[in-house]
Amino acid sequence: MEKLLTRLLLIEDDEEDYLLLKRHLAKIPNTRYEIDWTTDYNAGLDRMLSTEHDICMLDYRLGAHNGIELIRNARSQHYAKPIILLTGASEYEIDIQALQAGADDYISKTQLQSELLYRVIRYAIERKKAELEREKLLREQIESKELEQRRNEFISIVTHELKTPLTSLKAYAQLLRRRFEKLGDEQLTRQAMRMDSQINKLTGLIDDLLDVTRIEGGKLKFYEEFYDFDALVNDIIEEIQPTTDKVTLIREGSVDAAIWGDRERTGQVITNFLSNAIKYAPEGERVIIRTCVDDQNVTLCVQDFGPGIPKEEQENLFTPFYRIEQPSRGAIPGMGLGLYISAEIIQRQNGRIWVESEEGHGSTFCFSLPLHRAPSIPEAAITEA
Ligand code: ADP
Repeated sequence: MEKLLTRLLLIEDDEEDYLLLKRHLAKIPNTRYEIDWTTDYNAGLDRMLSTEHDICMLDYRLGAHNGIELIRNARSQHYAKPIILLTGASEYEIDIQALQAGADDYISKTQLQSELLYRVIRYAIERKKAELEREKLLREQIESKELEQRRNEFISIVTHELKTPLTSLKAYAQLLRRRFEKLGDEQLTRQAMRMDSQINKLTGLIDDLLDVTRIEGGKLKFYEEFYDFDALVNDIIEEIQPTTDKVTLIREGSVDAAIWGDRERTGQVITNFLSNAIKYAPEGERVIIRTCVDDQNVTLCVQDFGPGIPKEEQENLFTPFYRIEQPSRGAIPGMGLGLYISAEIIQRQNGRIWVESEEGHGSTFCFSLPLHRAPSIPEAAITEA
């Protein structure tokens, strides 16, 4: 079997000690040590910083300098290889100093023997690798957090800026519609209505972006109250049905209960389920909204008869900006935020959200909310994440 190669940089001013170390290392059965030996501080530092090696071993005594100074100096210049300090018989108390300066281990020259050397060198190399890997991971996490924070700040500024002109645009569109209606011009009235509904879509997209920045900044507010669940479902169906003439929304079941939570936010989830069903399954012709209740939960499911969703995609749907890319589905606009926001809304109310689907057999999106969630503060309460 080929021996493993370890390249060792040795900074040691005593030739006897170098030869002794070399002899011990030569006895190790499964590793070949290639030793690059140098005797003084400056040459040592130079080699540490400029040559390829796996580990550095250095003597505590290096002429006018000492090994600890060298370790400190090298580490301050970002030297990242493992370092083992070799100490003499009388240098007991420098081990901690060496570790503080940046050494990974030390060996007393009086204890040199092959097995110990093999273990100490191997451990130092592996520990350093693991340490560098951890540091890299941590750095990447911090960088991605910073990036995410900057992205959220950016989205937050842009969306706020977009909202103001959009609000006045909406007011003008409604004004025009009323004027055209009064004038009895049906075509212009229809056009103004279309303009208004496009503005609503744009407002919806901007609101989704704002919600995402709020969720990620822990600032999504909840206004909670007791509300009639059935009435909410009916209101939303009434609102959504006129937006499609291809799909019929069919209501099944009833809840007959008032539940505690944020009515508007829960409505947002139902709207999202329904508009997705219409958007992604228009050939299905009907969409069923099923509600039921047991002694613990209220459950609402929206079933469509569209293309369905492959199993491997299902758990990703609730993550931000996730969309299924399938050329066969055509270009359906969206940002992949609705289900992510929905999941947050349901989970914040101690509920559960899920999807049941098989490719080619439609999809059913559901959530359940606890029936007896006690209000934290009576009357309208505001909770923040
Ligand atoms: P958006 O619709 O803006 O892309 P969503 O978060 O609401 O964002 O949905 C995420 C993805 O889930 C959609 O892009 C779509 O691929 C898929 N999806 C959602 N609802 C359905 C559905 N009823 N049928 C098929 N695919 C769906």
